[in-house]
Amino acid sequence: MKVAVFQLSLFGINMYVVYDPQSCDCAVIDPGITTDREREALVSFIEREHLNVVHVINTHMHIDHVAGNAFVQKKYDADVLAHQDDVPLGDRVGEQAKMFGLLGSYEDVKVTRYLKDGDVIRIGDGTLKVIHVPGHSPGHIALYDGKDGYLIAGDILFCGSIGRTDLPGGNHQQLINGIKEKLLPLPDNTIVYPGHGPATTIGDERLTNPFLL
Ligand SMILES: [Zn+2]
Ligand SMILES: [Zn+2]
Repeated sequence: MKVAVFQLSLFGINMYVVYDPQSCDCAVIDPGITTDREREALVSFIEREHLNVVHVINTHMHIDHVAGNAFVQKKYDADVLAHQDDVPLGDRVGEQAKMFGLLGSYEDVKVTRYLKDGDVIRIGDGTLKVIHVPGHSPGHIALYDGKDGYLIAGDILFCGSIGRTDLPGGNHQQLINGIKEKLLPLPDNTIVYPGHGPATTIGDERLTNPFLL
């Protein structure tokens, strides 16, 4: 499947649209959109590529990754897929906004299908495999397309860094163990698309990420 990235204003989060060019089905991953301009950028991309939005998928339920869920869910009548262990975060999006000093109102997350480790999400003829790696948040998942060789990593793994573990439900050792056991065994040339900052590869992070040496 193809991947389009949108860098958004809320904490510089990366939203991804993963789409199968044959069927034109797509998933919007981590829609942290909060402005009219960002909503228009997504809608015009979907129109230009003639895509059908079948899923919203949240890697986890921190506010920067879910702020635009309701907009995408309603506009496209899309399913919302996420891991159950982050529901306590998804039920407190307003409190998260206050904690980070954000103004405005934010809707709670309405999940329509729970994901667990090993699940396979179908998008047209393509698939994303669910890999549960808790530690940044309890229900954090990564999404792996083994056919096209990339991983949507959310806030688990960044270029040269890993997710913070000082927020509620965080656990540093659990995060390190999960990355080493479940992500580093992927092929070296797997492209890692993180929730913030530039893309990297599994091979580069295995060799140079100071948190994983
Ligand atoms: Zn996060
Ligand atoms: Zn984030």
